[in-house]
Amino acid sequence: ASSPKYLTGDKAAINEFIDKFDTFLFDCDGVLWSGDHVFDRVPETIMMLKARGSSPLTSHPSCAFNSYSSPSGKRTVFVTNNSTKSREDYLQKISNLHIPCEKEDVFGSSYSAAIYISRILKLPPGKNKVFAIGEAGVEKELAAEGIPCLGGTDPNFRRDMTPKDFQALADGTALDPEVGVVLCGLDFHINYLKLSTALHYLRRGAIFLATNTDSTLPMHHSFFMGAGSIMIPLQYASGTKPLELGKPSQAMMDAVEGKFQLDRSKTCMVGDRLNTDIKFGIDGKLGGTLHVLTGVHQKEDWDREDAVAVPAYYADKLSDLAVVA
Ligand code: PLP
Ligand code: CA
Repeated sequence: ASSPKYLTGDKAAINEFIDKFDTFLFDCDGVLWSGDHVFDRVPETIMMLKARGSSPLTSHPSCAFNSYSSPSGKRTVFVTNNSTKSREDYLQKISNLHIPCEKEDVFGSSYSAAIYISRILKLPPGKNKVFAIGEAGVEKELAAEGIPCLGGTDPNFRRDMTPKDFQALADGTALDPEVGVVLCGLDFHINYLKLSTALHYLRRGAIFLATNTDSTLPMHHSFFMGAGSIMIPLQYASGTKPLELGKPSQAMMDAVEGKFQLDRSKTCMVGDRLNTDIKFGIDGKLGGTLHVLTGVHQKEDWDREDAVAVPAYYADKLSDLAVVA
């Protein structure tokens, strides 16, 4: 494979890169911001892309009065593995950071899971409830698809397990027979009761889904337990692997493609993590992948023995694209 093309400081290469695509899929944390700190000139960079035409004007002089004369800019979509927030919550965060965005431009892993359950799994009545390990983002997206949900932020699952709970799980009286899916996302209140309840549903045949399997959660210049690390105990105990619905899952790519009517060859995935974002773009056979060095992975990670994905392009930071007019 050829080595990634470096874009920082190379105007001609940047122009050529931007012209190749009509849609950019942006990972969020590590690309646009870190925690609550938006990276310098990111709003301007997104604005520049949105304003910039995807079709060259000069070669179509006869089209002065039709849509060719005012080509719409690039489409920008925000694709995050963060399941703790709903699309609405994310829109709020993105807007607060002055990045131009509409609700329809956000695609999160909890939304990905909710539409997979409602549109692909199509659970039969009587088996259509979800037991969720996760935060409010998962609950809100399930509710928006009309999917009943147990667990989640319910205080009754955020407490110590009692001897009665052991008995009630073992004899099934604590279990809702209508649960057909266990969905696991990041849960900041994960505990023995919740994991044991999920295990019992899985042992009774519930379908096992994960919003995403990020091993770590980067925060405050450190790494915390990611959604994948919360999920692994359940995989171990149940002996079954979940179907993942966040990046790099192609179930998510298919959903993004369907929603935005993507031309994959004209779409570029921008991300900071090789095993989620860049793999997502490569496996999805997108026209390009751009690795920005402001997040989890660095150049050295391309060459690691366990490297799973090498990008087509890289830049020091996203706003390096904004040097062109
Ligand atoms: N999961 C959680 C809970 C997060 O808070 C984050 C980042 O904020 C992520 C995953 C990774 O998100 P992204 O895919 O936007 O990098
Ligand atoms: Ca990221």
